[in-house]
Amino acid sequence: MQSYSPNNFAISVEKQYPAEIAKASFPLRYGKFSEIRTSEYEFLFNLNGEIKFIRGLNTRWPHPAEQLKRTDGNDWVYYTVGDKSGADGLISWLGEYYLPCLPYPSNPIWEINYFANPEIMNGFAAWSQLYANLYQSAKDRVHTKAKELVSSILANHDGVLQERSRKLNEIIGERVSVLPPDTRHVDYEVIPLTISDGCLYHCSFCCVKSALKFQVRSKTNVLEQISKLKEFYGRNLDSYNGLFLGNHDALGAGEELICNSASEAYSAFGFEKQRKVTPYLFFFGSVHSMLKSGCELFKNLDRLPFHTFINIGLESCDTPTLAQIGKPLDSEEVIEAFEKMLKINSTYENIEVTGNFVIGKGLSDDHYQSLKELLRNTVPSSNTKGTIYLSPLKNSPKKRELLPLIKEIKGQSKIPVYVYLIQRL
Ligand code: SF4
Repeated sequence: MQSYSPNNFAISVEKQYPAEIAKASFPLRYGKFSEIRTSEYEFLFNLNGEIKFIRGLNTRWPHPAEQLKRTDGNDWVYYTVGDKSGADGLISWLGEYYLPCLPYPSNPIWEINYFANPEIMNGFAAWSQLYANLYQSAKDRVHTKAKELVSSILANHDGVLQERSRKLNEIIGERVSVLPPDTRHVDYEVIPLTISDGCLYHCSFCCVKSALKFQVRSKTNVLEQISKLKEFYGRNLDSYNGLFLGNHDALGAGEELICNSASEAYSAFGFEKQRKVTPYLFFFGSVHSMLKSGCELFKNLDRLPFHTFINIGLESCDTPTLAQIGKPLDSEEVIEAFEKMLKINSTYENIEVTGNFVIGKGLSDDHYQSLKELLRNTVPSSNTKGTIYLSPLKNSPKKRELLPLIKEIKGQSKIPVYVYLIQRL
């Protein structure tokens, strides 16, 4: 790492943080970044010179471990540590030490509007000021490496970043409206690759569904995306440790396309050479895709050089509730998929299947009773795989009031239970 202090800020051209994201209560840092510090703020840039994190260093900043993060979709997300730390804090509800506060409507239990906090908004003002100062400093005599960094930061102004997120969506076909909850393990930092569009059910309760009918992409299309994505991410490919196969039901694309796409992406994106840790593969699956998937698929997935997470939308094991939320399934199918999930988790070392259930106002007592019974009577495998995510219905008011119910469900479950926060890429 080389540091320069050309003006009233200090530049570190390249800083290496741990390769793997640790679950810890201090600011999330992983991979390689460039850093600029002023007396009041810390700004981190990815290897392409795009702004990634802003953190206040002054005493007015809400908490030293909190920060703003810009996603590849060009959303600014504020990471809060919540109002309670320790084992009964956010970690017990989310499995993470941070709650990402989103700048768009979602289904959070804790609604935190960071735009209303002037100290956080001052972080954006400081970023604009730094940009102006860097523009001035480009004329100063600074070291070549620092000068190169400054020019790439200046080249990535707001308009360019907006255009890059549009370009990403164009490459993969449409914006990823929701990421699997398991992507929390890589702080939602994944390279998306679409292998199928649409979904089978078009459930009425769903706020992230696509209008498209389920359709599998061709191998040629997937290869084209991989080549464009490789160029799009450039040097910054090194910073990713996760691949997301989109969109809402990649499991339905079948063994050949899933395994081929993952293998091609593994080589093209350099997962094999730069990373010191096993990369992660994430995708969604529907109940029917899960039930029709044979042993060959799981055997071949298990042999891939990834640790694979498959997230299944189970929603309810009560047939009237499934009808109420407009999911064309019955409880037998959901329970069969749940049991298959447990079986896969105990059979395959490198695969973890997780499941989602809905919670929220208007759902019957039978829904909750059947869910508690299912989780209570589960015979889990010897490990801790197979997290159940509880997803609050988006239109359910007063979501914080769901906490006692979540606690009760968690208390009865033999497998981990966490809250699902719907996030887009
Ligand atoms: S819950 Fe899943 S299957 Fe249902 S509409 Fe949404 S994306 Fe499609």
